[in-house]
Amino acid sequence: MSTPLLSHEERWFASRLALSLKAGVPLLQALSLLQEEATEVNPALGAEVSAVRRRFEAGQPLKVALAESTRLSAPLLCVLCYAGEVSGRLGEAFARAEEYATRELEAWAGGEPNEVGNLQLWLRRAGLMLGGGVPLLQTLEVSVEGDVPERLREAVLFVGEAVRSGSTLSAALAEHVDVFPPTVRGMVRAGERSGTLDEVALQTAEHLHAGVPLPAAGKGSAKTTSVGEPAPDADGAGAWEAAIRRLDEMLLAALDAGATDLPLQPGRSESRARMRVDGVLRAAGVISSTDHLRYVNWLKARAGLALPRRAEPNRGAARLRLGQHDRRCRVSTYPTLYGEAVALRFHRAVDPAVEALEQPDALPPLGLRADQAAIVDLLLRQPNGILLVAGPAGSGRTTMLHCLARAVAGRGAAVFAVEEAVEAELPGIRQVKLEPELGLDIVNALRAANRQDPALLVLGVPPDEGAWPLVVEMANTGHYVMLPWQAQDAAAALLEATRAIGDPVLAAGTLVGATAQRLVRRPCPACAAERELTDLERDQVPAGHPLLQCPLTVESRGCEECGYSGTAGRYAIFETARVEGHVRRQMSGDSTGEALRLRLREAGVSSLRWEALLRVAAQQLTVTEALRATPADGAGTV
Ligand SMILES: [Zn+2]
Repeated sequence: MSTPLLSHEERWFASRLALSLKAGVPLLQALSLLQEEATEVNPALGAEVSAVRRRFEAGQPLKVALAESTRLSAPLLCVLCYAGEVSGRLGEAFARAEEYATRELEAWAGGEPNEVGNLQLWLRRAGLMLGGGVPLLQTLEVSVEGDVPERLREAVLFVGEAVRSGSTLSAALAEHVDVFPPTVRGMVRAGERSGTLDEVALQTAEHLHAGVPLPAAGKGSAKTTSVGEPAPDADGAGAWEAAIRRLDEMLLAALDAGATDLPLQPGRSESRARMRVDGVLRAAGVISSTDHLRYVNWLKARAGLALPRRAEPNRGAARLRLGQHDRRCRVSTYPTLYGEAVALRFHRAVDPAVEALEQPDALPPLGLRADQAAIVDLLLRQPNGILLVAGPAGSGRTTMLHCLARAVAGRGAAVFAVEEAVEAELPGIRQVKLEPELGLDIVNALRAANRQDPALLVLGVPPDEGAWPLVVEMANTGHYVMLPWQAQDAAAALLEATRAIGDPVLAAGTLVGATAQRLVRRPCPACAAERELTDLERDQVPAGHPLLQCPLTVESRGCEECGYSGTAGRYAIFETARVEGHVRRQMSGDSTGEALRLRLREAGVSSLRWEALLRVAAQQLTVTEALRATPADGAGTV
């Protein structure tokens, strides 16, 4: 493989087109931009892009328009383009093509690839194509185009024939043990079973890249292996596979239990796995040091992290498809005294209460009282302005934002979301992922969004200093903007945002409201018992609160049903504030938090503490949890 699958020009084309498409620029317009840019530096290429654009404009699919060109017709590009057009994710497809080409060039930096290097490049090609949605047979065919060593090409084409006639990929690979070493076959088998062949191919390539000892292939033994019944591997690939099966079982158990995190911490002689359920860590198993290393390698490779980097913290993302679950997760690793620790954070809580919050038609979202829901509904019907969704980290702000965005999109309005990481796909909403290193920072993303003229713009991260003026301008020119804010309560959020905007009068006119929220743990009903509030607890209940008339709380000590945690899922409680009347006047002046809080209470907005204690009175929350999860009221009464 000494000639790249993509030329320099094709690489440039793929990366630029991916960037524009991801920023939300329509395809035809993106091609025009590319044509302009190319013409300046390379007129011949400019003419080529122009021809592609004209053919596309005349109604040809982009794939065909590219295939007919002379400079932009690499099979890899055309095939990924086809997959992108079919899946509607053209931007992603071109990004993949570019990513592959870059990795391929990197691989060559070390000189002509050897046999292992060639295998690695091939696996990477195949993984990217499969991941881009190219069918397996087509992948096998196209992945050996270009200057592929004869032995590898022949083996892959034979494998393609076997797959075409009904063999599994791993069984077909087993027919060519002189080309595909046992580790590769073992991992492909694991990938076939879990339905993650694309990721496994990339992961195996990474494995080879990292110089993990590759057992020599037993030449000549190929024909003794019957198709469909791969012989047990004597070299450790079988043990490897068994370890991954144990890891899968552990991950599945954690997902079934509704865990949000799964840290693996190495110790002196063995390592410890724990999982976080409803915010509490519990044991998830003890792992041998050998298995720990295998788990870390596997998870790192799945997350696209370089295996040899063990002395520094790393972060990546992976997708897990296990049992009923299909979840993205963040994978972080960090060095410890006894080796590398790894922590998984699963995106999207499986918590039924939180999941209910995500139902597109669930407005009011779960946990909003009817009067609060009416306020939120009113806030969502504003034609323009900024709504703040406040809370500390881990309070479910992103979930709330998505829920509100879906409610607005459900009414047929155009919704645009700009996010740091796309954790959940939202139907009917245009999602753009920020890529600062590619030049797609928040300001550029906002400009791209502005061109689409959405009714609602959802920001997944608070604007930085440079982006605020643009956000305020959009909010005052017919767009409605929602953004998350890290703050204790609605008053703090409104005041801090006012400071960020810089002009209190402008801020009071632009901010339409703020919600604040907390996730609280529901007491397990199976082991709940009633008790009276202690004097200390009673002192923390604000005067006039209904709980004081009957100062009882439930308490769950833990039982078999709740895994001795005393809790059964979580739900959210809210503070919902509209900016109007006295509240707006207070904000326009030089307000303190206390004064603004007082105005909100006068306007009938109850505090988070007040809300939580109402849940205690309704036996939906323990007083301990209510006092733990909410800030004390300065203003006291509603
Ligand atoms: Zn219980």
